[in-house]
Amino acid sequence: KEKTLAMIKPDGVDGNYVDVIKKTILDSGFSITQEVELQLNEDTVKSFYAEHASKSFFSNLVQYMTRVTHPESFLTSGPVLIMVLEKENAIADWRALIGPTDANRAKETHPRSVRALCGLDSQRNCVHGSDSPQSAAKEIMFFFEKSSSG
Ligand code: ATP
Repeated sequence: KEKTLAMIKPDGVDGNYVDVIKKTILDSGFSITQEVELQLNEDTVKSFYAEHASKSFFSNLVQYMTRVTHPESFLTSGPVLIMVLEKENAIADWRALIGPTDANRAKETHPRSVRALCGLDSQRNCVHGSDSPQSAAKEIMFFFEKSSSG
């Protein structure tokens, strides 16, 4: 079976979408084989999203992944939930289940997708999924198989 890395981003955790997203995952035939809730810091996000370092949205992305905006624009730290999902064709199937990057587009073209359910726009899209076997292996290593010596 194939493994992929799924993440419920700070907006998804803060918005209380964890239970419904996990139910969607399990109902779609994945098993959740590993799971950790983590408060990401800026260095971790910069390293995880290193491929986007030159993008105009990178600094916003780093902020978004480390905190949540409460009513009245009050910013606090906010954790993410990171999971390893396992099933045949897990990588492509999880990407299909979450829908397009832009949650506004997801609402139009993939109304039953996870991002249509809990995302807001092209940044606040509430979930992540590895996009290839290479990134799945790298991302699972990044969060779950780092050696304790460093
Ligand atoms: P992810 O890698 O999180 O699964 P993705 O592969 O659908 O998302 P990427 O293009 O890899 O999308 O972008 C990584 C993340 O950066 C997006 O999930 C989103 O949070 C943010 N992002 C992408 N495009 C934009 C944009 N145009 N404006 C603001 N934020 C963006």
